[in-house]
Amino acid sequence: MSSSTFTEDDFIQLSALQHYVFCPRQCGLIYVDDAWHDNVFTVRGEILHEKVDTDTYETRGTTKTVRGLRIHSFRLGIVGRADVVEFKDGKSGDEIMPVEFKAGEPKEDISDKVQLCAQALCLEEMMNTTIQRGAFFYGKVRRRTVVELNDVLRQQTEEIVIAVREIVSTQGVPVAEYSAKCRSCSLESLCLPKAMNQRKLTAYINQLYQP
Ligand code: SF4
Repeated sequence: MSSSTFTEDDFIQLSALQHYVFCPRQCGLIYVDDAWHDNVFTVRGEILHEKVDTDTYETRGTTKTVRGLRIHSFRLGIVGRADVVEFKDGKSGDEIMPVEFKAGEPKEDISDKVQLCAQALCLEEMMNTTIQRGAFFYGKVRRRTVVELNDVLRQQTEEIVIAVREIVSTQGVPVAEYSAKCRSCSLESLCLPKAMNQRKLTAYINQLYQP
């Protein structure tokens, strides 16, 4: 891909990547159908981000910390904000590190890591640099976790960007697949995954008995 494939009009939100990893249909419902319902998990996250996204910076020692930095990548066509970016002026060279604040605890899926990696890809393009690591601060466990931004994670992230773009550009909301995660999904009452599964089953049975 060339270094300026997309224009600002083509940009998709960085946050869409996380929704896609959680459930492609949820991503479609939010970014194609414009649906959004808060639940206890989303509200907790928003309160935390309001505290962090403050458009300020401070310098302590050799580290400058910028909060709420707007970031983008023309190569990938993504835009968003980084909670915190640390610019360290170390003896062994400068280091830029995105740090994401999360209300909960480390997740089993790769959604948080993909978001962090996408932020790093934006920063790399904007600052013409290479970023080796990012970090999370999880509110529930009050612990900082450092993540290596390796080639596998970079490739997964770029593939997810492509998959999200496909949903947004074709306006194709994926069909529901009911699973355990539906119980924590803020869109369950709009999505009606059980009803949709029932409709798919009925259609399948009807098809079997067609002459
Ligand atoms: S209710 Fe389930 S299938 Fe529907 S958007 Fe949420 S997670 Fe996806």
